[in-house]
Amino acid sequence: MRYRWPDGKQSAAVLSFDFDAESGFYFREPEKAKRSLGDLEERRFGPRVGVDRILRLLDRLKLRASFFIPGWTVEHHFPESARIRDAGHEIGAHGNMHEALGFLDEAQEERVMREQLDILKSRLGVRPAGYRSPSWDVNVWTPALLKRQGFLYDSSLMGNDVPYEIDTGEGPLIEVPVQWLLDDAPLFRHVYGATNAIADPGRVLQMWSKEFAAMHPESGCFVLTCHPFVSGRASRVALLEELVTYMRRARGVWFTTCEEVARWHASRPAEPAGSAPAKGRGAATGPQASRPAQASSTASGERARARR
Ligand SMILES: [Zn+2]
Repeated sequence: MRYRWPDGKQSAAVLSFDFDAESGFYFREPEKAKRSLGDLEERRFGPRVGVDRILRLLDRLKLRASFFIPGWTVEHHFPESARIRDAGHEIGAHGNMHEALGFLDEAQEERVMREQLDILKSRLGVRPAGYRSPSWDVNVWTPALLKRQGFLYDSSLMGNDVPYEIDTGEGPLIEVPVQWLLDDAPLFRHVYGATNAIADPGRVLQMWSKEFAAMHPESGCFVLTCHPFVSGRASRVALLEELVTYMRRARGVWFTTCEEVARWHASRPAEPAGSAPAKGRGAATGPQASRPAQASSTASGERARARR
């Protein structure tokens, strides 16, 4: 039984952006952050250039996206955070100092969660429906904390590729799942000593297009996670535009936000009696299960031309 989307849509697609700026660097490497202007400036590219470039892209594409913003980023990059809000995009919580939850006990985590909610409320006037944990690091007790703090959904886990529910002991929490394959950081970030090389945007376009083309007939929920300081680079914004153009060739894609996906999941009608629960694994047989032609790697072609 395939996952049922509203209005007979075949699949869902969300562009999400984690606007970290320098917050996670201050949390993970506080001593280095006192002196390494290089590391700080790499991350400041997000608020200085990436955010507005991405906002212009979303405006051109007429798309609403989901932005997850740490409290620290809201306080230190307020104009950019406000422009995201004012452009009508969803804003979700993403830690305060981008605290990796593996470093926090339950009481610390609850305090940090309250702090980030206070900042989003007092500075942006936003009460977020959703939460994305920094670095997708989630403790076993986190879903119950989110439930207690009134969150509708989490978007940090990989246990399915359609929305599902996490049992918290205090009622289910909706999960809008993510996956490493659809994250820009492992592909594009330069990290000394890491095994990955910086990926060609053409290769990434092909990878993400293939994942979409396969998820679409499976009625999947395609959630792309990008970072303004990583994907705000010119060729990568061009890649996002090519990707969305490609995805729009498929029939029945619901381009939406994480919040709308979660609200649909919370309100959708029960499955017909006798049907198996939705696993997002059923064969697509409906007339809208169309597979678009393979995306071309024009980004890599342009790069090759530019080198000549
Ligand atoms: Zn982040």
